Amino acid sequence: MKILANDGLDKKAVDFFNDNNMDVDTNHYEEEMLQTVIKYYDILIIRSATKVDRELIDAAKGTNLKLVIRAGVGLDNIDVKYAQKNGIMVQNTPNASSNSVAELVLGHMFSLSRFISISNLTMREGVWNKNIYTGVELYGKTLGIIGFGRIGRALANKAEVLGMKVVFYDKFIDNDDKYKYHPFEEVLKEAEFISLHVPSTDKPLIGKEEFGIMKDGVFIINAARGGVIDEEALLVALNSNKVAGAGLDVYESEPGPNPEICNHPKVSCTPHIGAATEEAQKRIGEEIIDIVMNFTKQQKSIAI
Ligand code: NAD
Repeated sequence: MKILANDGLDKKAVDFFNDNNMDVDTNHYEEEMLQTVIKYYDILIIRSATKVDRELIDAAKGTNLKLVIRAGVGLDNIDVKYAQKNGIMVQNTPNASSNSVAELVLGHMFSLSRFISISNLTMREGVWNKNIYTGVELYGKTLGIIGFGRIGRALANKAEVLGMKVVFYDKFIDNDDKYKYHPFEEVLKEAEFISLHVPSTDKPLIGKEEFGIMKDGVFIINAARGGVIDEEALLVALNSNKVAGAGLDVYESEPGPNPEICNHPKVSCTPHIGAATEEAQKRIGEEIIDIVMNFTKQQKSIAI
C-alpha cells in the first residue's frame, strides 16, 4: 500500500503506517507533477493546499488510486462527485479540529475587542496608543453563530462560559436544548459579535445587504471558508465604521489574500490556521489511521 501525503501528515501517523509496511511519501508535488506521479499511489492524503480536480482525477482513473482523504473538514478543494463517479472514494476527518477552530475564533474576538493585534503593530513602530485603544468586554455581549454544527457548537459552549449570550442560525437546525435559534436576519440584527461556521457557499452569505442589517460597531469573524463573506462589502463596512472589527482566518484568495484586507487596521488576520494545532493534527492523524485501516480491510475482503 503506497500513500502520498501531499500536504504533510502527523509524524505519529507516518510512523504507524511505516511500522505496518505501508510506504508514506510526504513530498509535496505541484499540480502538473502530481498528475504524473499520482498513478504510483493507492491513497492520497491532502489538506487544503492540494486541489483534487477533474484533471487530477482523469490522471488517476484506472490506476491504483482508490481513496482520497481530506485531513480536515471542508471538501471544497475536491471534486467529490467526479471522484466517486470514477471509483475513487473520498473521506474527511470532520471531528478532529472543532476545538482548535473554536479557540482560534475566541482569539480573534479578544484580539479585536481589545486591539491586541493592532497594538502589536503600532508598538513595534514606537507608538503608544493607550488613549485610543479602549475596548469592550466579551462578557454580557450577544454572540450570533451562523452555522450550528461541530465548530459552531464548540464555540457556543466556550462563549457561554465567558458570560456571552449565544444565539444561532442554521439552515437545517432550528432548535436546541441549550441555545436559542433565531432566523438569519434576527441574528444579524441582535448580535454584537457574529461568527460564521457554514460550509463553503456558492455566493457570499454576508454581503452589502446583510452588513446593512447588522448593529453599528459589530464584530465579525470568518474561520469557515473564503467567499462566505463578500470582501469588497466588508471593506466598505469597515471603512464606514459599520463593522468595528473583522477576524479572518480564511480568504477569497488563498494563499495571497487581498492586501487591503490584511493591512486594514480593524482586521485581525491569520493564514488559515484554524486546525493548525498539535492536538488537532494528532487527532487528524488518528482519524486517518482508522480510515486507512478500514480501507485496507475492505480491500483484503474484496481480494478474497
Ligand atoms: P458542520 O458540518 O459540523 O457544520 C456546518 C453547519 O452549517 C451545519 O449545521 C449546517 O446545517 C449549517 N449550514 C450549512 N449551510 C448553511 C447555510 N447556508 N446557512 C446556515 N447554516 C448552514 O461543519 P463544521 O465542522 O462545524 O465546520 C464549519 C466550517 O468550518 C466549514 O466551512 C469548514 O470547512 C470550516 N473549517 C475551517 C477550518 C479552518 O482552518 N479555519 C478548520 C476546520 C473547518
